[in-house]
Amino acid sequence: MTSYPDLGLFIGGEWKKADGQPVLNPADDTILGTVPHATRADLDAALDAAETGFRIWSRTSPSKRAEIISKAAGLMRERIEELAVAMTLEQGKPIAQSRAEILRACEIIEWDAQEGRRVYGRIIPSEPGMRHSVLRQPIGVVAAFSPWNFPTSSPSRKVGGALSAGCSIILKASEETPAGAVQLVKAFADAGLPPGVLNLVFGKPAEISEYLIPQPAVRLVTFTGSVPVGKHLTALAGAHMKPAIMELGGHSPVIVCDDVDPLASGVSSALAKSRNAGQVCVSPTRFFVEEAIYDRFSEAMAAKAASLKIGNGLDAANDMGPLANERRLAAMETLVADAREKGARVLAGGNRIGNRGNFYPLTVLADVPDDARAMREEPFGPLALLSRVKNIDEAIEKANSVAYGLAGYAFTNSARKADRLAESVDVGNLSINHFVASSAETPFGGVKDSGFGREGGIEGLQGYTVVKNVSHLTA
Ligand code: NAD
Repeated sequence: MTSYPDLGLFIGGEWKKADGQPVLNPADDTILGTVPHATRADLDAALDAAETGFRIWSRTSPSKRAEIISKAAGLMRERIEELAVAMTLEQGKPIAQSRAEILRACEIIEWDAQEGRRVYGRIIPSEPGMRHSVLRQPIGVVAAFSPWNFPTSSPSRKVGGALSAGCSIILKASEETPAGAVQLVKAFADAGLPPGVLNLVFGKPAEISEYLIPQPAVRLVTFTGSVPVGKHLTALAGAHMKPAIMELGGHSPVIVCDDVDPLASGVSSALAKSRNAGQVCVSPTRFFVEEAIYDRFSEAMAAKAASLKIGNGLDAANDMGPLANERRLAAMETLVADAREKGARVLAGGNRIGNRGNFYPLTVLADVPDDARAMREEPFGPLALLSRVKNIDEAIEKANSVAYGLAGYAFTNSARKADRLAESVDVGNLSINHFVASSAETPFGGVKDSGFGREGGIEGLQGYTVVKNVSHLTA
């Protein structure tokens, strides 16, 4: 039940072992395994394999592609327990959330697989004897980089989209949570995906991206991760005229209007914030609450936060696991100390738990001033920052005052306010009266520093295609 899989590189349909770096369990600092690092020769082999894979896969019928891709998702569903345990071991999240992530990955892959059969072009009406046909063709070999917070669902976005559009892919997944990608790739291999269509490598992230992106074979770059790295990879892709899909950080505002139940919204806010210990690009972070309900909302949220059980994610009784790495722990300590110094009140949490594993509680800070660092820098951890606002105009202004623009949330029963918020909050995804930022069929992505391009929905698949216009004079 607590086994961790063998890790390998997957190139041209073959698994390969190599030296690399240890993978740590964030709940107890023990070593789970060794993730292999790819050499230059491995990367060259992956490029060759992906080119061959593209020739085969782009000429495979969409229905056959859909069959193989769907089969991979089916295998992941059958293997859910094994996959979920490995995910909790390497990433720390509670086992129920690991299962939910696997199911979400399956939904994404299955939706993409079917939608890949409907990547339509169009015929443009023109003068007699002329036909303009717009073709949507798979773009080619994709270089994909996925992070450690969602070890399976983040790569599934990229693999599902690329393969369903008819592309091949070289995936460099996170070295800190490699099993999520290894098991995803294994499901595709077992489902009968031709060799070379999906390749998996690990190594030093900067060395791999700087080698792969300029290669002529690579036609698209997709990255999920931090804003600074996203800007660096975008510049690299731009220097080589490659399009990119950038799903970067967020600093999600939550606007709570005074016409909602403060207790219910406070409780649901604490639960949403606790998901994956706040290490989510769409995690709700800056809570702008209208003053009439601010105190009751804050108390309800803090009480719920304080009631959450924190511990090893394999114990189903725990609501929140450890942070995934020591960097996050250090970041929480720094940001909380700074906010406290500037006058924020700690309503719940605020200190590391124990000294083994990276445990940090859900921390609710009230009256956080605008100049606290956490208000501008993405905490990427279990910090909820509460701020009292006079009205929704002030809330919208504050919500839009950061460089990020990924997800946003609002709670209101007023159609007028909801419409105003939908028009005015500067984000790629706004959820009103709930905390689900995206689903397989909806386009997900950011504005401003949060990136560009979309994952999911028809827009996500179109990102892996190029448009070609064919003008045919027949008369
Ligand atoms: P980081 O900036 O060092 O790395 C972020 C991710 O990019 C990691 O997965 C890393 O392996 C990868 N990476 C780093 N340098 C790279 C390079 N030159 N080429 C290719 N990949 C590279 O930060 P971190 O400490 O790992 O993560 C913390 C920050 O990352 C958070 O503050 C958050 O903003 C961001 N993050 C965002 C997401 C997301 O879903 N958008 C996911 C994970 C991390």
